Amino acid sequence: MRLTIFCFTFLICGLSTAQKMTYSVSMPKPQNHYFHVEMQLSGFKEKELMVKMPVWAPGSYLVREFAKNVDLVKAFDENGKALKVNKKTKNAWSIDKGASSLVKVVYDVYSFELSVRTSFLDLTHGFISGSGVFMYVDGHKDLSGELSVVPFKDFKKVSTALMPVSESVAGDGAFKFTFNDYDQLVDCPIEIGNQEIFHFMAAGVDHTVAIYGEGNYDINVLKKDMAHIVETATSVIGENPNKNYTFIIHNVVDGQGGLEHTNSCTLSVNRWTYQGGEYAGFLSLVAHEYFHLWNVKRIRPIELGPFNYDEENYTSLLWVMEGFTSYYDELLLVRAGYTSESEYLQKIQSTINYVEGSVGARVQPVAHASFDAWIKAYRPTENSSNTTMTYYSRGQMLAAILDVMIISKYKGQKCLDHFLQQLYNKFYKGLKRGFSEQEFQDELEAFLGEDMDDFFQKYVFGTEVAPLQETFKKVGLQVEETGVARPSFGASLRQDGGKVIVRGIRAGSAAEQAGISVNDEIIGCNGYRIDQGALEQFTGGLNTGDKFSLLISRDEVLMNLSVAITDYFKPQFTFKKTSDMQCEKLRNYWLRKI
Ligand SMILES: [Zn+2]
Repeated sequence: MRLTIFCFTFLICGLSTAQKMTYSVSMPKPQNHYFHVEMQLSGFKEKELMVKMPVWAPGSYLVREFAKNVDLVKAFDENGKALKVNKKTKNAWSIDKGASSLVKVVYDVYSFELSVRTSFLDLTHGFISGSGVFMYVDGHKDLSGELSVVPFKDFKKVSTALMPVSESVAGDGAFKFTFNDYDQLVDCPIEIGNQEIFHFMAAGVDHTVAIYGEGNYDINVLKKDMAHIVETATSVIGENPNKNYTFIIHNVVDGQGGLEHTNSCTLSVNRWTYQGGEYAGFLSLVAHEYFHLWNVKRIRPIELGPFNYDEENYTSLLWVMEGFTSYYDELLLVRAGYTSESEYLQKIQSTINYVEGSVGARVQPVAHASFDAWIKAYRPTENSSNTTMTYYSRGQMLAAILDVMIISKYKGQKCLDHFLQQLYNKFYKGLKRGFSEQEFQDELEAFLGEDMDDFFQKYVFGTEVAPLQETFKKVGLQVEETGVARPSFGASLRQDGGKVIVRGIRAGSAAEQAGISVNDEIIGCNGYRIDQGALEQFTGGLNTGDKFSLLISRDEVLMNLSVAITDYFKPQFTFKKTSDMQCEKLRNYWLRKI
């Protein structure tokens, strides 16, 4: 009896002190674009709680200052009495809760930016990108909890990868979900509205597709093709770690790409993308975001999870995370039979020519491009093409080179897939963590059985032209350098309300030499008024050494500048197949169909 009483008391105490966290999000007036959020916190012992709004959305490496969308933050105790709230930093509020057993934090978030990494609400639908809507309690990101989504009265559906507690509950009409921790809560975007929903099974995983917006899609075709992409992607690593997966697709006028999550993704595409030549691009986007469920969400640098939501999370490995994923988003389409071998080789050739032909590729190493994504890739300027190189394209080229190196080394028995499998098994499944830069290089060296210092110094931390000839000959591709020096002006132009405006100046070009600046208005050439088309045609027909004068307006001051056309050498490469049988065998293995 005594024991029973003791246990009962213990149980009551245990329950009363357990920390509990629930969020409720509603949208009573979608036309004002505000999500109303209530966080209910109970069992917290601290006298003061700090709540914070993230400054960025994982996967999109830019500080976006989501707190800018938050209006007045209020807090109440269990009796509905207002608690004192003090703003501490740009994204943190402290709440004097004293001994209150329950705190309700209430705020509204203005949500009117429809992209895959921001939130949106209007009378047609709502989209929640969690890190811009849900605050977290500092020091308690690991707490599990429950989320209620109360849709606007005309919205009937809620789509998310979060685990549902139950279907819509009679009364408040809320859709209830659970989350294991804050990372999971904000890693599951939520679509609310009257979206079209369908399902398919692939790789043993139950897939849900939720499509907002009209488009020229055919559900049966999408089911078949998306399943095929899923199966092909899964075969790279050999296992699919999810039980279910959700695609949220926004059909809009200007599609913006996608954003990856652990067991979901959001795709933003042009609504007419589903037929004709554009469709392969859609499937490539599906492959890209899906492949990320392994590469970056599970196979990842140690800096990318658990996340610090308060500031930049730096890594030099985005060339692997985004570059390798870009490599596979095209390769998977060959393996799945949507792209022919010759189309694929043409794409790889174009990527290589874009990378090695860019001025910025000789200035910015891809490791630096990764590290500085926050201030450069996501904040381009008119000078970016002179000084930066995207880690997507250069990473894709380096992935192709490493893949061919592995295939050649293992004589067509292993490829880049097997190296990724090794990373997945060792770090994600074994050590349950990401890897450091050094560990990544160590793993690659161990896998290839050779020192890779030279490769990293020249092509990852350096800006040298990649070893194209020596690499691709191993798979029966002769790479010819076909670039020649050509006469060039070096300024790009745009038309603005009938004016010809300088959009960009290539470093070292004739235009730079002449003193032309970005934003100059070009009014005349050799004494005549001129438009953009005529000027481009004129400069395109000139030879090296030819001279001409331009009348420009800079800040409304007129000036004449003299231009002398100079040579510009742009590296360019052409692939040709060779007839070596052994190399052809390796090429067939590289581009094999599954
Ligand atoms: Zn990506």
